[in-house]
Amino acid sequence: MTEIKLYNTRTRKKERFDPIDPDNVRMYVCGPTVYDRAHLGNARPVVVFDVLYRLLRHVYGSDHVTYVRNFTDVDDKINARAAESGREISEITAETTQWFLDDMGELGALEPSHMPRATQYIPQMVAMIEDLIVKGHAYEAEGHVLFAVDSWREHYGKLSGRSVDDMIAGARVEVAPYKRNPMDFVLWKPSSDDLPGWDSPWGRGRPGWHIECSAMAFELLGESFDIHGGGNDLMFPHHENEIAQSCCAHPEGDFAKVWMHNEMLQVEGKKMSKSLGNFFTVRDLLEQGVPGEVIRFVFLSTHYRKPMDWTAEKAREAEATLRKWYGQVSEAVDGAEPYGAIEQALSDDLNTALVITELHQLSNAGDTPALRASLQLIGLMGKDVPEWSQKSGWNDIVSDIIEARMAAKRERNFERADEIRDWLLERGIKITDAPSGTEVSAVDAKNVMDYAHSLGEEEHLALGHRPQGEGAWSFSQADIVPTYLRHVLSEWQREVVK
Ligand SMILES: [Zn+2]
Repeated sequence: MTEIKLYNTRTRKKERFDPIDPDNVRMYVCGPTVYDRAHLGNARPVVVFDVLYRLLRHVYGSDHVTYVRNFTDVDDKINARAAESGREISEITAETTQWFLDDMGELGALEPSHMPRATQYIPQMVAMIEDLIVKGHAYEAEGHVLFAVDSWREHYGKLSGRSVDDMIAGARVEVAPYKRNPMDFVLWKPSSDDLPGWDSPWGRGRPGWHIECSAMAFELLGESFDIHGGGNDLMFPHHENEIAQSCCAHPEGDFAKVWMHNEMLQVEGKKMSKSLGNFFTVRDLLEQGVPGEVIRFVFLSTHYRKPMDWTAEKAREAEATLRKWYGQVSEAVDGAEPYGAIEQALSDDLNTALVITELHQLSNAGDTPALRASLQLIGLMGKDVPEWSQKSGWNDIVSDIIEARMAAKRERNFERADEIRDWLLERGIKITDAPSGTEVSAVDAKNVMDYAHSLGEEEHLALGHRPQGEGAWSFSQADIVPTYLRHVLSEWQREVVK
């Protein structure tokens, strides 16, 4: 079995990874607060831990890894968004949750095994808080319940390497008078009638942010599990507080054995911020035509423990490289093993920068089956190469039709131009008009598959498709769209051009 080494923030060492139970390797990663589109920086931990998830599945088997990533759907930022927009909280969180899943799906991120929402685990949080009070680690004050940092003073701050005294000295925040120690943090707080709230032994209220991860991790992964991940901006106070809560409520366990933190993301050498005008969401990039695979590639080109700089230049280079690789592997057979050196680089604390160097070497050597399997291993392609990488050839195939439409427009025969557009649309072919010209922008997969299923045996064989038995045929997605476009062109030549 491949030996995996991971850098553990807790011990500040790269260590051999030995799962508690190789039949069920368990990982928890802090997920988003759902009130807005994910910005590019939010996507970095998603991609980093997706690569780790894929590696663990590859090494231990896809049924032997449990990955939990939460959605924070109760939070003051969400309340504020609801108040300013006049929309229902549930509507905002449901919409934003789906946006997040769609956007991360475009980046090739697999969905975790469990995606618990905080509001589904309120009873578990209340039970954990009650337990912490009973054990002397928490206290009630003015409708709040606070974690008593002094009850765990010698351990608090170890992950981020701070002592409680230093933290108090450095704290500039105004301290609530009901806190016994300024570092005490909220487990439960009261809710006024206009805010979301749940009944509890301390009155109607809502949980603090930190307790949700402790309660959900315990519920879904147990008192000890293997890996806890997140951005390094979460190390303090969020992760310190998770550790304090979980280790005090469940002293029989270790909570997480390995703590992993990714570094932050910059844009063109500067911190991303709304005031610098370099703040953008994943969706913004996708809508500008930057494919998800390109974003993923740029992320992977920097090691996760180094600051990552997003630049337009890197995106252009990534796209050119990916086009070349996808072109090489579109014909390659499935089922080859990923290249050993790539598995090794990945197993060495996710050295994805080295992985990309190795991929270049595979490409140069022309080892397309291994290149294909390796791209699949790191999530840069699924079963088929992405459609966009093939698209440049689409226009050439149906250029007669495109030319007929452009000619109609030049003659100001807009009715004819629209007829041609609709004729294509009926066949699932969408065109867009840009200053540079008209282009085929999308081909509906349903039309393509209906066409593929309508083919007879002779036609399949003539197209080089491989029989799979029982009337099923194997063909590459990259080829079937051009085949379909040629079919549409011949229909055009038969029916329309007379
Ligand atoms: Zn968390």
